[in-house]
This record gives sequence, structure tokens and C-alpha cells, in this order.
Amino acid sequence: MVTLVGGTLLTVFKLLRTYIRLQYTQGSISEFITESEFGHDWSLNLRRDPRTSKLPQLLSLLQSIGATPPNLDAAEDTICWSLSKDEHFTVKTTYDHLLGNEENVENFPTRLIWNHRIPPKIFFFTWTAYLNKILVLDNLQKRGHQLANACYFCLRNEECANHLLLHCPYTREIWAGILPQFGWCWPFARTFALFLQGWNCKGLTTQGKRIWYFIPAAIAWGV
Ligand SMILES: [Zn+2]
Repeated sequence: MVTLVGGTLLTVFKLLRTYIRLQYTQGSISEFITESEFGHDWSLNLRRDPRTSKLPQLLSLLQSIGATPPNLDAAEDTICWSLSKDEHFTVKTTYDHLLGNEENVENFPTRLIWNHRIPPKIFFFTWTAYLNKILVLDNLQKRGHQLANACYFCLRNEECANHLLLHCPYTREIWAGILPQFGWCWPFARTFALFLQGWNCKGLTTQGKRIWYFIPAAIAWGV
């Protein structure tokens, strides 16, 4: 029997899906443990060598499950949500955990994306654009599609989310038409995510802020 720690579950699942052989996905934890005269040890049976970039995650996984496997017994595997006292999953404990993880949420532009005044399909699109997951040619190529990659507007650059939503000369004209030109400085961030994180509404009235928060989503959706 083994217990997976709730906070590391996503990492564990991603790694399992990528590296563990498919036939083990329905298996038991005991299948990943080998016993010998020297004791017992983890045997993850990776189907391919992990990339260097994945090694920290694998190390993190080993730290989570412990260097030494649990003793084998006849009990069935269980998954416990260690962030809750009763070990049952709750959204609140997940949310609290994420809030405690500054890397995930410190600069997330909540008001620009999860804005209840914006139609769901638009704020969902803004969210996927923030994560650089929208289906521009660049991302389609990464998914294996064989496509010629040129920006639909300018035909001069590759079509990636950051170019399409920020840096394309045609898109810049739209931004220039919306943003104040005098007395304001608008350095365009390298990525759409950084741009949203720096979206500034200081000095605006309450009504002005409401409108101001619409603009990035409206332009991204319009483009
Ligand atoms: Zn372009």
C-alpha cells in the first residue's frame, strides 16, 4: 500500500503518463518495487530515458514517494489527499495549496481573465492565450502538424501566440489605437502572459477600471 501526496499528484501523473509503460497505468504500486537479498527498491521501468529537463521532476517524484519503497503487504493501493485532514479531496485545500505556491499564482492576472463580466468563451480563450495554448500555427507544429508557418497578417514572422496577440505590426496598430499615447509608457512585454501581468490600471476610477479590465480580452478575442 502506498499513499501519494496531494500536492505532488499532478507532477506524478504527468510523469507516469509520459514515461511509465502503458500496461502499468492500471497496475499496482507493487509492480514498481523489486525485492532482492539487499532489500527492496523502486523500479520505475521507464519506457525511455527522461530528458534532462525532466530530471528535477523525477527527483521530486522520488522525494515525494520516498527513497525506500513501502513494505509490500496484501492491502490494496489507495490514494489519499494529504492536504485534507480526512484525506478526501476538496477544491478548497487545492486552492489554498496553490496560493501557497508563489510560482503558480503570484502574478496571475485574475481580474483580467476570471472576470465574470466577460463572456465565458472569451475569458477561457484569454486564459489559454495566457498559457500559450491557443491553436496558432506555432503550437500546431509542436503537436506534429506539418504546416508552413507564417503570420496570417504580416506574412513576415512565424505565427506564435505572442507575435499574433502583441508584436505583429497589425496587432500593434490595434493596441496603439486603444492605449493612451501621451503621458503613458507602454513597454510591450516579450510574452502575452507577462503583458497581462503588467496591465496597469492605477489612477482610473472604479468605472474606468471595469472597462480597462475588458480591453486585453477584447483585443485578444478580436484578433
Ligand atoms: Zn504578423
